This record gives sequence, structure tokens and C-alpha cells, in this order.
Amino acid sequence: MADNSIIIIGGGIAGLAAGVYGQMNGYKTRIFEMHSLPGGLCTSWQRKGFTIDGCIHWLVGTNPKSSSHVMWEELGALKDVEIVNHEEFMSFYDSDGKAFHLYNDIDRLEKHMLELSPVDVKVIKELCSVIRKVSALDMSPDSGPGSLKKTISMMTIYMKFGKMSVADFAAKLKDPFLKEAWQTFFDMPDFPMMGLIFTLGWMNQKDAGYPIGGSLAFSKSIEKRYKDLGGEILYNARVEKILVEDGQAAGIRLTDGQEFRADRVISAADGFNTIYKMLDGKFLEPELQEYYRKSEIFEPLVMVTLGVNRDLSDQPHTAIHSLKTPITIAGNEETYIQVKHYGYDPTLAPKGKSVVMSMFSSTYDYWKKLAEDPERYDAEKKQAALTVISTIEKIIPGFEKDVEMVDVATPLTTERYTGNWQGSFEGWRITTKNMNKSISGGLAHTLPGLKNFYMVGQWVEPGGGLPTAGMSGRNMIKRICKEDGKTFTTTRV
Ligand SMILES: Cc1cc2nc3c(=O)[nH]c(=O)nc-3n(C[C@H](O)[C@H](O)[C@H](O)COP(=O)(O)OP(=O)(O)OC[C@H]3O[C@@H](n4cnc5c(N)ncnc54)[C@H](O)[C@@H]3O)c2cc1C
Repeated sequence: MADNSIIIIGGGIAGLAAGVYGQMNGYKTRIFEMHSLPGGLCTSWQRKGFTIDGCIHWLVGTNPKSSSHVMWEELGALKDVEIVNHEEFMSFYDSDGKAFHLYNDIDRLEKHMLELSPVDVKVIKELCSVIRKVSALDMSPDSGPGSLKKTISMMTIYMKFGKMSVADFAAKLKDPFLKEAWQTFFDMPDFPMMGLIFTLGWMNQKDAGYPIGGSLAFSKSIEKRYKDLGGEILYNARVEKILVEDGQAAGIRLTDGQEFRADRVISAADGFNTIYKMLDGKFLEPELQEYYRKSEIFEPLVMVTLGVNRDLSDQPHTAIHSLKTPITIAGNEETYIQVKHYGYDPTLAPKGKSVVMSMFSSTYDYWKKLAEDPERYDAEKKQAALTVISTIEKIIPGFEKDVEMVDVATPLTTERYTGNWQGSFEGWRITTKNMNKSISGGLAHTLPGLKNFYMVGQWVEPGGGLPTAGMSGRNMIKRICKEDGKTFTTTRV
């Protein structure tokens, strides 16, 4: 290698992580980010004195005692940050107001479920026992002692729950109320029960909390760490093409025509744009082609956020309410509404006020069509907000009059700010069928016929998420060190 230089496309968490670990290992890295801020999807924005948090609900690795915390220490992401661990992951209310709390403490969850449905004792006990097992696993980012035990435990759990979706699990419950509640958690087609089990395992360990300050503050901490290590990040720098010479990635060209060269190029940007636009679809891998054809993505979201002049701290932080009368949001009939408030983070709203959010799965094409007529697009956003406000009014009487700020983000908003294909918020949707991909290390991170080029981030790691994005950048630098015969080293702050 000539001068150990690496160009990184995209300053989301995967790109920032690749930059941090690259700097730690003696590479000269430069990140080119099309936006004016770090973080990509992990971001927040301000409106009328309220902060709208566009990402973190829970973050795996927040417990300083857990091995998953190591990476965040290396990235300088959580230094001196207060973490909130909720008592319950979320709550479910049926249309008569009967409540089920998905407690994070597994003993409390087991007791609560058994009280609600003694007849389901076998299913409940089996579930809680497996969550306890997952809780005890060491999820160290580097393989080492304990990994054999980890593999055996994983295989046992996988054999039992690997092919089971959350809906399959709900169907096993006899009690209709509990069945309905479980059906609403991770309500996505074929969402693996393993995903929910792992999440509850981390919650039980108090290792999936919320960092006070929210998503942009989190991203900025990693950006600071990168700069402190000598890394350079260029903003408002949108990459148009990856330069290829003699079958090797040689650099990049920005949309303003400037060209930059390096020994290696890592794309931490959207996968579709990288493969089909920046590289003109010339280096296609059959498996990736298949993925893009099948389009099993996390459906993009419509996010309605409201700033209200009232303190909602006495309300459950995240509640799913079954609706007596369905509502329509962006052409879809919704029989449930999720109401989330951020009362636990005082940095997001002025004292005595609250930020409230409702999110709905939506379709990219619906909004793309609407956007052909900007008036209709705006009207649809307004309608979504009005529907959410009047629905919450029925749950929290007097709510409507206290609304001071309204913000509606659509799949096109996500696409515009982060470039993510079809506005997806987490890349490839994880299902019981592709889950083994994420367990075995994701999709191919290189393309056939193109040397010195690599991909990281949520489009090569089905399931996405912040720890996965960070680990993707980390693993890539580890791999590059191996290619160069160097020992991968890290430091912590
Ligand atoms: C509403 C929401 C809630 C979420 N909640 C959680 C949660 O609670 N916990 C969790 O772990 N995860 C959560 N996620 C998922 C998580 O945010 C993502 O999986 C993760 O941030 C993906 O990181 P990434 O670096 O792979 O991709 P991105 O964040 O998409 O980063 C890609 C970067 O590349 C840049 N880019 C794209 N094209 C170009 C170009 N041509 N030139 C230059 N730059 C370019 C983009 O601007 C962006 O900064 C949530 C996401 C959303 C949207």
C-alpha cells in the first residue's frame, strides 16, 4: 500500500466507526458525508424549542459491566453520559384499557404474565427461562474465552426458537388478551422471536438503555473521538462516483466534480446507491442482486412528533393502544397506535413540556407518488398529524389543546437526509429466513472484480441497528489490518 490512506463514504455510525478504528490502527482516513452533520440515521432536529429524536429508543451496550459496552468506550460514545433504564420495554392496552407491561426485569415479567394467564404457564416459563439464558451470555466484540459456551447456548436457543416468528409465539398463547399484546410487539411480517428474546435479554441485564441527550449528541461524541484521533471529516460532500482503475477502487468523485484518491475506499453509505449508482452496477454479486430484487427491507416510517405544553412523565413511556375505531394514516388502516413520550430526557423539551411521538410503517411508493403534487403531499402530512392528535386526545383527555409543535417526517424525509434506499430505517428486514445471515456475519462486504473496495453498515448486515453499524466499521478495519499483516489495536476513553 502506498500511504495507508482510506476514503470512507458516509459519516453515519458505521462510517464514523470505520474512521475511528482506522485512525487507531495507523491509517489516514477521510470521511465524506453528504449532510452537514454526523450520524446519518442517528440524528435529532429542533423545532419550536423541542428536540425531535429520530433514532435511539434503546441502545445495546449501555451497561458499563457488559462486554458490548467495550465498543462504545472505544468509540467514546457514552463517556459521562447518563443512561435511563426503563422498568418496562413497552406497555400494551386493549380497547377497554386493560394493560400488559412488557417488564424488563424477567422475574417481574414472568410473574405479571402468569397472573394474567395462569393457563399459559408452560409457554411463559419456557420463554422466561430462555431470556435468562440469553441474559447470561457474554457478547464480547472479540472472540475469546467463553465463545464456545456462547456458541453452544446460541445453538440450543436457535434450535428451539430459530424458526419461530413473534406471531408464531403469540399463536401459542391461549389467553386472548396476552395473545393480542404479543402480536403487537415487533409487528412485522415473520419477525424472528429470537430478535425479541435477545432484546429482552439485554433489557434484563440493563444493557439496552437510553443515553440522555439523545441521538445527535451520541453521534457527535463519536465524531469528536474521530477528530481527536486525527481523522478528517468533510461535510456537504456528496459522492457521485467511485473511481475505478485497473480493477481497483482508486478514489471518489463528488457531485461538484472534485476528485479525491486513496489506497482503499470503504462505502458506509446506502447499499443500493453504492452498487447501482456510484459503481454503475458494474460489480454485481448474485446474492446481493437477489437481495435488492426481493426487497425485504424494514418498511419506512411516517413519524409524527408533537411538542406539548404538559408534563407526561406519569404516562407509560411507550404504549401501544388497541383502537375501538381504526384510523387511516397514509392510506393504511391502523388498528393500533403507539404513543411514546420522552419525559425521561429533560434535554429534549423545556421544563414542564413533553415530546410525544407516534410512528407507523408506510410505503415509499405511496409518498413518492404524492410528492409529484407538493400540495397533496403536505396535506397528507397534516392529515396524519391531525389524526394522531385526535386519537391521543381520546387516550389522554385535554391533550389536543396543549399541542405547540407538530413535525411529520415521511419515508422521503429519510431518503433526502440519509440517502437510504426507499427511506428504510434499518436496511434489510430481519426474518426467520435470513436471520442466519446476520448471525454468520452478514452479506458479502466486497464486490467481485473490484479490489481495495469494501462496504460496511446496515446494508451489508441484515437487521441493522447502532451496535451492528459500529461493529461493522470495527470488523472492517480488523480485516484490513489482517490483509496488511498488522495487529488490530484499540484504545478506550
Ligand atoms: C426512527 C428510527 C429509530 C431507530 N431506533 C434504533 C434504536 O433504538 N436502536 C438502534 O440500535 N438502532 C435504531 N435505529 C437504526 C439505526 O439508526 C441504524 O441501523 C444505523 O444508524 C445505521 O447506520 P449506518 O451507518 O449503517 O447507516 P446511515 O445512518 O444511513 O449512514 C449512512 C451515511 O452515509 C451518508 N451518505 C449516503 N449517501 C452518500 C453519498 N452519496 N455521499 C456522501 N455521504 C453519503 C448519509 O448521509 C449517512 O450519513 C433506528 C433508526 C430509525 C430511523
